[in-house]
Amino acid sequence: MPRIARIRAHVLEAPLSEPFAWSFTETSTRGSCVVEVTTEDGLSGWGECIGPARLNAALIPAYARMLVGQDALAVDRHWLAMYNGLRDQGMKGLALTALSGVDVALWDLRGRHWGEPVWRLMGGRFRDRVAAYATGTYRRGDGWRTLEARRTEARFGGGDPDALTLETLQYLVDEVTGYAAEGFRAAKLKIGFGVDQDIALIRAVREALGPRIGLMLDANHGYDAIDAIRLGRAVADQDIGWFEEPVVPDDLDSYVEVRRGQPIPVAGGETEFTRWGFREVLTRRAMDIVQPDICACGGLSEAKKIADMATAFGVRLVPHVWGTGIGLAAALQLHAVLPPSPPRHDPTEPVLEFDRSEHPFRQAVLAAPLEHQHGVVHIPDGPGLGVEIDVEAIARWRVELVG
Ligand SMILES: [Mg+2]
Repeated sequence: MPRIARIRAHVLEAPLSEPFAWSFTETSTRGSCVVEVTTEDGLSGWGECIGPARLNAALIPAYARMLVGQDALAVDRHWLAMYNGLRDQGMKGLALTALSGVDVALWDLRGRHWGEPVWRLMGGRFRDRVAAYATGTYRRGDGWRTLEARRTEARFGGGDPDALTLETLQYLVDEVTGYAAEGFRAAKLKIGFGVDQDIALIRAVREALGPRIGLMLDANHGYDAIDAIRLGRAVADQDIGWFEEPVVPDDLDSYVEVRRGQPIPVAGGETEFTRWGFREVLTRRAMDIVQPDICACGGLSEAKKIADMATAFGVRLVPHVWGTGIGLAAALQLHAVLPPSPPRHDPTEPVLEFDRSEHPFRQAVLAAPLEHQHGVVHIPDGPGLGVEIDVEAIARWRVELVG
């Protein structure tokens, strides 16, 4: 029986060449908490936590104390021990993002121990490749700030704030058409900056893309229900795949209102956690598409349970992915085992979120990058997550080591 000898958190961080923003905040760095679980016989499994890297890392020693010396293969028992250990103060948020990193590392370890990919240990795969959609279109540099300032000035000075929008945001239209030229069959546009400028941008992007490329919207909960419904109705004729995080995640009643009030399918769930959190989303029919993040919702163990629940409720599931190649590899393992729902000769397939925004060590942490070819990503066959970690790259980007 392989016993857990050590659990460490590697805090990785890198500056961006230029800061980028989404509806409610901005960043000038990319960071990640990468979790390494090592057995007494020297095998290592790797996982990742989404969210503030140093805060995630600070929680890892608490989980390590529960698990060190235990059977490394007892994944379900460890999940429950960690969740129950912090349950009273940690049913959502950082306690779960940190737990997710440990759980993913335990699955990687389990696969490496048996010499099998996670997808085989989870019941076998339905697919060996997945179509990816491009995530990007963050507001870059400080041009968007100038736009916001000029819009405010125009609004209070009797001018037309929307006349300014498209000349300043043309680089986003160019970015999306670039993804289509690269071979992606769909892309996601960041909105949530203001209903009228978002409508103008969505129409410009759709016109530039033409009718054959999928287009989804992500407001990063920049709206309330009134604005989200107005936007959804205004762009209902633009063939939008889904409207992601229209409103704040802790207000499911507003989600229900947005679903009822406008015709675009509503997606969300990247900041929802565990089977119990998604139980609320599903029983209240708050979303058409749920998007658990494996590195947040409770790891691969919990993401599989949430996927099975979504099937029972007839709700589509498209995992959220926004980390390094480790998180991407974990997502690919889940993609392999997502059942067609419903089965048919040519079923609706889950699509892979493929982040194209700047990330200096996204692929560098892997010995071989997980790239797309013409918008398609192959699911690795190797043991565990199916990827080898470049430990020298981990050390190069590391700013703190915990445990
Ligand atoms: Mg999102």
